[in-house]
Amino acid sequence: MSADPEAMPSATPAPGPRPASPSRRRRQLANLNRGFASELLHNAWVVVCVLVAFRLGLAGIEPLAATVLIVGMPLWAVGYYLVCRHQILTSRHYRPRLAVSVVTLVDSLILLSFIVLDRFSWLSAAIMITSLVLNMVFFAEAMGARGAILRTAALVATYGVAFLLTPSGPRSLSGEQFVLVLLVFAVVGLMMAVVAHNSQAKTRQIVELLARQKEYAEQLSRYNAELEKASLQDGLTGVANRRSFDRMLAGEFGRVERHRIASSSRTASKPQTGRLSLVLLDVDHFKAYNDHLGHLAGDDCLRRVAAAMQGALLRPSDQLARYGGEEFAVVLPETDLDGAKVVAQRVLDAVRQLEIEHPGSSVGPFVTVSAGIAEGPSSEDDQVARLIARADEGLYRAKAAGRARVAVSDQRSVA
Ligand code: GH3
Ligand code: MG
Ligand code: MG
Repeated sequence: MSADPEAMPSATPAPGPRPASPSRRRRQLANLNRGFASELLHNAWVVVCVLVAFRLGLAGIEPLAATVLIVGMPLWAVGYYLVCRHQILTSRHYRPRLAVSVVTLVDSLILLSFIVLDRFSWLSAAIMITSLVLNMVFFAEAMGARGAILRTAALVATYGVAFLLTPSGPRSLSGEQFVLVLLVFAVVGLMMAVVAHNSQAKTRQIVELLARQKEYAEQLSRYNAELEKASLQDGLTGVANRRSFDRMLAGEFGRVERHRIASSSRTASKPQTGRLSLVLLDVDHFKAYNDHLGHLAGDDCLRRVAAAMQGALLRPSDQLARYGGEEFAVVLPETDLDGAKVVAQRVLDAVRQLEIEHPGSSVGPFVTVSAGIAEGPSSEDDQVARLIARADEGLYRAKAAGRARVAVSDQRSVA
């Protein structure tokens, strides 16, 4: 029978009994089933060897020895499998390492009883060797190089002592022959250790490669997230850029449209909610500002103006963007024209209160901003572009009326 430590239980070590999660239990059961299948295959090989030798009368095998092996091995394997399975399913008392040790010990004892009962015949020696080779084929990696060496040494010592203590029979190997068998045993054990070492090194390499691949994938997704953020942010002021503005305005416009359609299908009356306002803002005489103070000062001014505008927006849903050059836009969801006027005026005041000196302004000593506002959708076939055009018209009116004020496209200046 196999003396392999990983044959029956899970290969996953556990510090002690603890309630297993469903996924951990599934993993333990899968490992147990795999180990049990290998164990059965291994046992079948040894049993078939004995049966064939017994049947053909090749080795004149001791009937008691054969019975111990043929009955003991399958009974032990099935019984222990059922115990481990029950322990895993009830999540109690299952210790993979303990199970490994018990399997190893009992496997070795059954095989040793067979060899002793058969008085160290050539058949029992052959079964010892083939058992080890089978172990190597199935379990070298799971045992590890150190485990393979330790186990081979322990088995060689145990079998050697057993040989010395067992009275010889008519078919017993001679002392020299048995030393030769132990030598072959030891060489196979060392080969097993080398295979285990190489196999573990390869596994380590694969694990390392997978970890590195995972790290690269995470780095890539971080870069992608940064790239996505950068692609929606204005480099100079840090507020949303034009691309982002186009997206959010289209998104809000669509939302209001959907809301309007849904409300009108529920009631025949005009819907009262689902509003959206847009404010376009433009720094007054900014060309003159640049001309007087230089582009670097102009950039700095734009940064401060953007920050002041952002600070003047109180609702988290109000969204500021740099529309282009010295122009900004604010999207105001769920806000009508009156509300937009209030917000726009607050933005204008915030910029004015910065008191950034403007040597070339006709409006006053400090930097000021003009605003045009519009509400939408104003009709069933209204479009985003028309909403922007209306706000732009309002801005034009504010400029024409003397700047530093808020205006609506089809109304008089309101500030
Ligand atoms: P108005 O009051 O009519 O808006 O006059 P204006 O001078 O502000 O308008 P105009 O469109 O003539 O000039 C806009 C100026 O804004 C011209 C351009 O050099 C400047 N500008 C646009 N983008 C930037 C920028 O990123 N940095 C700096 N420093 N200046 C910019
Ligand atoms: Mg402009
Ligand atoms: Mg301007």
